[in-house]
Amino acid sequence: MSNMEQDRWSRVKGRLRSSVGEDVYSSWFARMDLESVQDESVHLSVPTRFLKSWIQTHYSDKVLSCWQAELPDVNRIDLTVRSPVRCAAPAKEAPAPAESRRDEQRSAAERSNGAAPVSANHDALGGSPLDPRLTFASFVVGRSNTLAHAAAKQVAEGRRGDPVMFNPLYIHSGVGLGKTHLLQAVTWAGNTGNERKVLYLTAEKFMYGFVAALKTQTSLAFKEALRGIDVLVIDDLQFLQGKTTQAEFCHTLNALIDAGRQVVVAADRPPSDLESLDERVRSRLAGGLVVEMAPLGEDLRLGILRSRVVAARAHHASFDVPQPVLEYLARAITHNGRDLEGAINRLLAHSKLNNQPVTLEMAEHEVRDLIRPSEPKRIKIEDIQRIVARQYNVSRSDLLSSRRTANVVRPRQVAMYLAKTLTLRSLPEIGRRFGGRDHTTVLHAVRKIEGLVSKDNTLSDEVESLKRQLQE
Ligand code: ADP
Ligand code: MG
Repeated sequence: MSNMEQDRWSRVKGRLRSSVGEDVYSSWFARMDLESVQDESVHLSVPTRFLKSWIQTHYSDKVLSCWQAELPDVNRIDLTVRSPVRCAAPAKEAPAPAESRRDEQRSAAERSNGAAPVSANHDALGGSPLDPRLTFASFVVGRSNTLAHAAAKQVAEGRRGDPVMFNPLYIHSGVGLGKTHLLQAVTWAGNTGNERKVLYLTAEKFMYGFVAALKTQTSLAFKEALRGIDVLVIDDLQFLQGKTTQAEFCHTLNALIDAGRQVVVAADRPPSDLESLDERVRSRLAGGLVVEMAPLGEDLRLGILRSRVVAARAHHASFDVPQPVLEYLARAITHNGRDLEGAINRLLAHSKLNNQPVTLEMAEHEVRDLIRPSEPKRIKIEDIQRIVARQYNVSRSDLLSSRRTANVVRPRQVAMYLAKTLTLRSLPEIGRRFGGRDHTTVLHAVRKIEGLVSKDNTLSDEVESLKRQLQE
């Protein structure tokens, strides 16, 4: 490329940077390269498909106009994905003799003893503990999880250097619906099947690892270790907290994705509802493939029960659960996979201890406390604010404002009270969502309304009606 072209490209990048801001620029454009300019079209490249599609859907006009400001004739931007440049960890590019010997020893050890190296490898990277039962083989596929399963399978079967199909893969669902099972299945499959390194971390482990690494001043080593892996799997992302951790998570995410590594994430809510996360992280998370797993249907529940019985029979050959009992359990235990597992465990324990076959009557008795009313709907703070505002004829921004007139104060307190009682959000989080109030203000509101509801019938009726509207 000539110097003139180089200069022009720098100016275009400068325009882009000032038009989208430093943050957006460094997240999305820092790794965009100029390939060529021909007549009316400019050929640019980025390292991943993900970046390509993101830039195309969100910034193609911007990119074009920044070029046109320099070269008015340009009317087309071609954006392609550069062939994957795998930026291997420096140690690998130029292995020191000691280093490579250790590698050889390790792989010899791995060859010699079956499944152990999976966790040895994984443990060495500081991964969270894996449950050997949570594999694809024991995962039952049904309508509510077909897509999540297919996507996870696809990720697990990827080979080093394969183009990444969707990045990150983001799986969300309520509790006990199989997220951890799928994520661990990906980890087992990836680490056993091929030469890739898959690291499974809970968000807590990520935080702990990072914070601990900071304290011992090995954070660079920690980051290097993270960057040396092919697939990073993070479970329960909703627990990621703290500004430093988040900033670090954001960097790690960007670094891995841009280097063509796969990231898989699970959380109990969609990216847009991860309220404590920075907007940039949320949009990056939402930019891959987001799949929701719905509550388990009856067929799937039956399938899971059957597979649990089969697993139990491996150790207790005489254990059996008659079909009508399985059907009863699948119909009655609607809540989640953990309760299904619990039910089979209890039947097993009972039949072993009393040396009795499993009957319907015994099952009914054993699992009675696992049978819960239908799962409550997940309620969002925005919905609460909207519905409360409507009921009291104020605007949502009144609720968030600092106005203290009585006609706004009471609805605001009611809304905070409902947010505390109908969602799992913490007091500080609710405070933030109500115009950046302190958690003590929220606590005061919750206590106030709790007190009033028991005395004031009108208010109590209003609150009940709001709850009904929200739960519909
Ligand atoms: P989550 O992480 O979504 O809270 P888990 O993955 O821990 O849920 O699942 C809870 C329990 O239900 C586990 O024992 C898991 O093996 C079981 N389970 C959930 N979905 C399935 C499934 N589709 N097939 C087999 N077992 C399942
Ligand atoms: Mg889980």
